[in-house]
Order: sequence, then structure tokens, then C-alpha cells
Amino acid sequence: MPDALHPCLTCGACCASFRVDFAVQEMQDMGGTVPGGLAVEVTDTTCRMRGTDHVPARCAALTGTVGVKAACGIYEWRPSPCREFEAGDHACNRARVRHGLPALADGLIF
Ligand code: SF4
Ligand code: SF4
Repeated sequence: MPDALHPCLTCGACCASFRVDFAVQEMQDMGGTVPGGLAVEVTDTTCRMRGTDHVPARCAALTGTVGVKAACGIYEWRPSPCREFEAGDHACNRARVRHGLPALADGLIF
């Protein structure tokens, strides 16, 4: 569907649903990509995207409005859990439904 918007561009639900933890080595000052200030250290080995453990959760890097227009403010530098997250899988649809959005077709590939 060449003219269709990628569903993530009008969603952002996953970035406002789950805790996002990753290895400290992914932080910029440790040689990784994630900018300091957007994540907090939770243990000696783990960092967490700021805001993802708040109630309600919302990653500090998320811009826009969930379900309307959303984007990751650090897309190129986002941590590995965000890179591995797949639109259309079970967790994606759980997040979408939680935010009142319709589930996507299974295994959606863009
Ligand atoms: S919940 Fe799914 S569709 Fe929405 S932004 Fe995340 S991956 Fe994309
Ligand atoms: S870093 Fe970007 S992709 Fe990851 S949860 Fe935050 S806004 Fe979403």
C-alpha cells in the first residue's frame, strides 16, 4: 500500500505503554547512541527510558499525541528494545488496544 501512512506515525502507543530497559552500554556516554538525560540508570548494568515507568507511562523521547500523530524524537539513536519492537505483533496490538486504537493485522511488514 504505497500511499498508506505507516501505522506507527499515527500511533505511538507502545512508547506510552511499556517500560523500556536496556544495557548501560547503549548510553551515549558509554559509547552507545542513547542521549544522556533521556534515560535513567536503574542498576549498575541497566538503564531505562525516562517516563516509561510512570503511571501513565510515556517515554520522554516521544513527541506528538498518541493515536493522532506521534514520533520518536531520537529515532536514529533509540535503544535496542525499540529497534526490535515490531508493528503488528502481539505487544504492539496490546499497546494499541490499551490506547483505544484498532489492532493491526498479524505480522504486518513495512
Ligand atoms: S504500538 Fe505498534 S503501531 Fe503503534 S507505534 Fe508501536 S509498533 Fe507502531
Ligand atoms: S526511545 Fe523512541 S521508540 Fe523508544 S520508547 Fe521512547 S519514543 Fe518510543
